[in-house]
Amino acid sequence: MLKLKKLVKTYRTGDQALKAIDLEVPEGQVLALIGPSGAGKSTLIRCINRLVEPTSGEVWLGDIELTHLKSSGLRRARREMGMIFQEYALVERLTVMENVLSGRLGYVGFWRSLTRRFPQSDVDEAFRLLDRVGLLEMADKRADELSGGQRQRVGICRALIQNPKLLLVDEPTASLDPKTSRQIMRLICELCAERGLAAIINIHDVALAQMFVQRVVGLRFGAIEFDGPPDALVPEV
Ligand code: ADP
Ligand code: ADP
Repeated sequence: MLKLKKLVKTYRTGDQALKAIDLEVPEGQVLALIGPSGAGKSTLIRCINRLVEPTSGEVWLGDIELTHLKSSGLRRARREMGMIFQEYALVERLTVMENVLSGRLGYVGFWRSLTRRFPQSDVDEAFRLLDRVGLLEMADKRADELSGGQRQRVGICRALIQNPKLLLVDEPTASLDPKTSRQIMRLICELCAERGLAAIINIHDVALAQMFVQRVVGLRFGAIEFDGPPDALVPEV
């Protein structure tokens, strides 16, 4: 479903963040991307949706190659990829419902939701998602009234209302306490299973990754140094 071929990113500063990454993610598979800070995890995720422009190599989503797409093609491709962020990236002064609905516009245009009306089917779907993550009663609260765990649940709903094929998840629990982190990881993995979604979850907490996923990819210095089931992982990756 997702295929990276010899993906390279060298920043203008000379940092070789990714050195010829080859990676395949089949439909419906959830994988955790682990590795120390600076290993290239964030760069890898961002090269897939081109928040960062790859230096060379190919990114295939189904039968579409993404690195050469121009703006309208790229917008269409990005709709297939839901993004979940460490710091949630909610619009604080909008309500929970408005934040979720903004996912229908794609994350690059979320601010436009203020002036946009949504069809009832989108509103119904937003309610269903909020119910599923346990936030139904919060729909009319402003985002800035929520706890961190609640905000991330909103972030999850906003990504899912896009109806993506792939979730790109960048350190979803880095700002949360351990118990909430486990709840959020469990929720993301359950929702992927329910919807047959593939996901790449960038996470530096190895123990948390091991609890919930069947495949772990370890990055170090921009290269893959481990790829397998979590129980084959030696400590120190
Ligand atoms: P991780 O997410 O695993 O912490 P990153 O992808 O953020 O790793 O970073 C990988 C490498 O690329 C690091 O050496 C980092 O300093 C460098 N890097 C990341 N973003 C930039 C940038 N915008 N400009 C230059 N170097 C960057
Ligand atoms: P986070 O880990 O919270 O995602 P980053 O480490 O990616 O934060 O850094 C935040 C910002 O700084 C990003 O825009 C990133 O691209 C940039 N950045 C990261 N490392 C470098 C670097 N070595 N040189 C220049 N910019 C960098």
